[in-house]
This record gives sequence, C-alpha cells and structure tokens, in this order.
Amino acid sequence: MFTIQQTFRAFTCLCLFAGFLSAQTAPEQLAYDLSTRYTPYADGAAVLDVELLAEQAPDTWWRTPAAIRAARSDHGLPLAGLHLALDPGHIGGMWSEWEWRNFRIAESDIWVREGELVLEVAQRVHAHLRALGADVTLLRESHQPINPKTFDYYWAQAAEGLTAPDEVSLKAQVDYALAVRNRAIRLAIVTGEIAERARVVNEVIRPDALISLHINAASWPEGETQQLVESDHAHVLIFGCLSAGELASLRQQAQLVKKLTNGSGAIEFALGAALGSTLAEATGLPASDYERKNAIRIDPEVPELWARNLMLLRLVDCPSVLLEPYIANSQASYPRIQKALAARAVNAPLGEDDILVEYADAVVAGVLRVYSN
Ligand SMILES: [Zn+2]
Repeated sequence: MFTIQQTFRAFTCLCLFAGFLSAQTAPEQLAYDLSTRYTPYADGAAVLDVELLAEQAPDTWWRTPAAIRAARSDHGLPLAGLHLALDPGHIGGMWSEWEWRNFRIAESDIWVREGELVLEVAQRVHAHLRALGADVTLLRESHQPINPKTFDYYWAQAAEGLTAPDEVSLKAQVDYALAVRNRAIRLAIVTGEIAERARVVNEVIRPDALISLHINAASWPEGETQQLVESDHAHVLIFGCLSAGELASLRQQAQLVKKLTNGSGAIEFALGAALGSTLAEATGLPASDYERKNAIRIDPEVPELWARNLMLLRLVDCPSVLLEPYIANSQASYPRIQKALAARAVNAPLGEDDILVEYADAVVAGVLRVYSN
C-alpha cells in the first residue's frame, strides 16, 4: 500500500524512467498536483476541469532526463545530448542600483551586486557543463539587459499607477515626472526583462531545462546603520503555490494549465530536489523557511525545495528551477563574498573556500545527478 507521497514519487520515477512525460496525465494525478503543489492554499480543482485537462496533448520540445540518457552512447561524455539554458539572475553593473541589488557595509568594502556575482557563477557552470558534454546557453553574458524595450516604452504603463499632481509648481511637476521615470525604468529592467528572458527561452533557445541563478538577501534589520543578519540559509524554487487571487487571473490560469499538463512539473521536481541536495551538501547551509503562504515545501525529504509562483518560473514552459543559496548580507556569507571579490579585484588565486566556486560546483553536481548515466 503506497502513501500519497510514495504514489507521487512512484509516478514521477516511472515517468522519468520511461521518458513519457509528454504523454497525458491522469485526472487524479492532476487533482493531486493541484492540491499539493500548484494551488495548495486555493482550490484549483474547483476552478479547473481536470477531466478535460487530462485529455490535452501538451506541446513540448524538451526531452526527459531518461530520454536524454537513453540516447547517449556508452562512450559519450557524461552530459552529452543535454541542452541547458542558464539564467544569471538580474543584470548588475550600472543597473544594480535600480535593481535594488547593490550594497556594502563599510565604505572600504567592495559593492555586492547580485547580478554580477551570479554571472560569474553561470560562466563557471557553463564551462564545466560544456566540458562534460552538455550544450549550454547563457541568457546574458554582460551587465546589460536583454530586453530591447527601454524605459520610454513603459512610460504610459508607469504613469497609469500614479496620480498627476494638481499643483502647477515646477517642483511638483518634476517630482511626478521623476516618479514616472523611476517606475518605467523598473518595468523595463525587472518585469520587462523577465518577460523577455522567458520569451527567448520559449521561442529561441528551447532547452531541455532552465536553471536561474540567484543569491538571496534578507531585509535589513531595524536600526540606523546597516547591520549583517545572523541567519544564513539556502533554497531552490520551482513553479507552484498560486494564491486564490492569482488563480482568478485568466492569464495566470492559462499558464498554470500549460505547466500542469506539459510534463515540466516532474522534471522540475527531480532537478530541483537534486540541486537542493547538492547545494545543501556543498554549503552546509540549512534550508530556508517561508513564513507566509506564498510558497510551499512539497517534499519533507527535500526541505530545500519549495514551490512558488515567481514570474520567470510561471512564464517559462520547459522545466525551470531557480536557485537561492546564501544570504548575501549575513554574518557568514558577506565576509566570504568580500573575500571572493577582493581576490578577483587583484587577480589573486582564489581561496579553497571561494564562495562562487562552491556555488558553481554544487550546480554542476546537481545537474550530473539528474542527467548523467
Ligand atoms: Zn535574485
């Protein structure tokens, strides 16, 4: 007699083994996936017709780990045949201030910019995976957005949410114009940038899976000076956990239906679990916790793995996993990041405990765990 969790695992394993994920899924499995992962705090099965959804023949371009392994010759490289896309999260460079991802504690410290740190991690992962036989595409290779639309494209949308001042004073008018500009820039480099990355993955790269690389940060504690936080942890995110409000949005519902039925879910689960485990092993960090109901842990045996409705995870059709190891402004990780940046600034040899090398090696190990024979 299987428990529900075991049945889910058995189903997942069978599918991954057989490479059948593009085939239709039973209505019972869809209802189970909705209640445990995709809409655990909203009644997805009451909104969606799982019987009807089970009859859909999903459109997929990616191959399952089992299919990739089966097509590989015995003498091939360990990751031959795999095509991965890597998303170095955010942008970095001159945009990091606009991204609110630019900080340092002391004036003598080096600026910590998430977009720059994860680009180096992605480049290291890229080199390793290629040496192991995988085909790897980076979504960006510099500190510039890939979204061709600049802030003027978003001007009208940015103005929509802001009320123009009644006052005719120059100061009031200029303040309003600056507020609109600031919103338009954020729309271009955050929301618009994520939408463009998802479009490129879906329409141009069409990989077997996408891995999005981030480094987490905690909100600053109350107080006048910026102080490092005590807690440091790691987690991995896959798509799921829509709220009732999100489920009511027809656009989000359409994307949920696509992700629920196209077989990406089980591969995300396997890849996310493997990466969660290898990151925990490499970093020694405990698993992160979500206190609010905007995310859900879907397997007690992999505490690092959470389902959450993030825009990139929702919009990318193929299996997608987003990594959030380390708290950049924590007492443990901040000095390690400073040390890593200082070594790079003077081209010194990297320390044995280099945090970016540790991160990259953990990603490679997780990919190998899922896709090598
Ligand atoms: Zn991030």
